[in-house]
Amino acid sequence: MNAATSLDIAVVGGGPVGAVAALALRDAGFSVAMVERGPPPRPFDPARYDARVYAIAPASARLLESLGVWPAIAAARISPYGRMQVWERAAELGLRFDATDSGHAALGWIIEQGLIVAAAWQELGDLPCHAGVDAESVRWPEDDGECPTLRLSNGVELRPRLIVAADGADSPLRAQAGIDVTTWTYAQRAIVAQVQVSDARPATAYQRFLPTGPLAFLPQSDGRHSIVWSADTDRADDLLALDDAAFAAELGEASQYALGDVLEVSSRQAFPLRLLHAADYHRPGLVLVGDAAHAIHPLAGQGANLGFADVAQLAATLSSARDAGRDWSAPRTLSAYARARKAGNLEMLALTDGLYRGFGLKLPLLRDLLGVGLEAVNRIPPLKGLLAQQATARR
Ligand SMILES: Cc1cc2nc3c(=O)[nH]c(=O)nc-3n(C[C@H](O)[C@H](O)[C@H](O)COP(=O)(O)OP(=O)(O)OC[C@H]3O[C@@H](n4cnc5c(N)ncnc54)[C@H](O)[C@@H]3O)c2cc1C
Repeated sequence: MNAATSLDIAVVGGGPVGAVAALALRDAGFSVAMVERGPPPRPFDPARYDARVYAIAPASARLLESLGVWPAIAAARISPYGRMQVWERAAELGLRFDATDSGHAALGWIIEQGLIVAAAWQELGDLPCHAGVDAESVRWPEDDGECPTLRLSNGVELRPRLIVAADGADSPLRAQAGIDVTTWTYAQRAIVAQVQVSDARPATAYQRFLPTGPLAFLPQSDGRHSIVWSADTDRADDLLALDDAAFAAELGEASQYALGDVLEVSSRQAFPLRLLHAADYHRPGLVLVGDAAHAIHPLAGQGANLGFADVAQLAATLSSARDAGRDWSAPRTLSAYARARKAGNLEMLALTDGLYRGFGLKLPLLRDLLGVGLEAVNRIPPLKGLLAQQATARR
């Protein structure tokens, strides 16, 4: 076993939220190490497209900008979108958001997941990073003021004052700390792929709520679209079994040809979907961020955005406690972080779960109401403006 190392914070998980957490906490003046069980991300390759993309909200963009991650993303591949069209029965009737309704330049940016992670890792510079290494077990402190001991699969032991668990929805650290979760699986899978369509409006995101699940088209800078098609499990299995031409035909039909014909589709990947919320966001010596604390249905494109908001809050809470001369790793400080994040996270979890149930034929009357509601909102500019504002400023 290697000699124990001491430091302020160990971030476990080098996914989008963990890598950004390591940067934010380092920039806030803490000594930080990061542990990621996978290999370091591949550098961005313009010839490759990541089938997984994120709709990044303005608040997340500001965080990435402040951490110096944004320029590398902007120089690689990024697609701002200023309009969003959401409908259920007929594309021309649904809800249309325009960034200008809320005085913003963009509603958000479509960015490949791999690009965000690669750009964040690149900015880590000489931050100690244990890649290809599992955070295996933790010895928790018995008394306040003691450090947890984090044992890694390469034999190294870290003794940080605080462990930040960014180890995803299955969070082994959350389980080891005995933190309960509320969780259920959605009987749906999300199919992602890149597609070429014949007649889309530029810089516009589209989402249709089908009885079998929502279908989103997210614009790419080169005119392609990334799709996220969440479908009931049987339907998803059928769609995955189709050849490209048959899948493209189904996609055109499902989108009511709102973007014209589907000309090309890439290979497809599918993800199981669930809702998860941790009962507590902290234990002595441990704090949860990102999917380790909460996972949601992707219909609102909010999972990583919530994780980035956790990171911004955690860095602010810990540094203001430290600057005020208080113990920044004390349970009281971690509670303040949890209080600041829980309500907003729960609100988004409830909203997405409600939309899933409302549109999914699970509650037919609510579905009818939402169908009428979407069309009615369009005719009430102030209400639409308010929703557009929520879609940008609060995300
Ligand atoms: C189809 C789909 C579409 C989505 N679209 C959007 C979108 O448009 N916008 C948006 O904001 N969100 C979106 N999301 C949600 C988003 O993918 C997640 O919220 C995000 O990936 C969470 O990031 P994370 O870093 O918390 O967790 P993860 O991405 O799960 O990363 C966890 C990391 O921890 C590592 N790890 C785990 N255990 C250990 C261990 N013991 N030791 C070391 N390392 C460990 C893993 O290897 C992994 O790298 C979407 C999700 C899906 C499924």
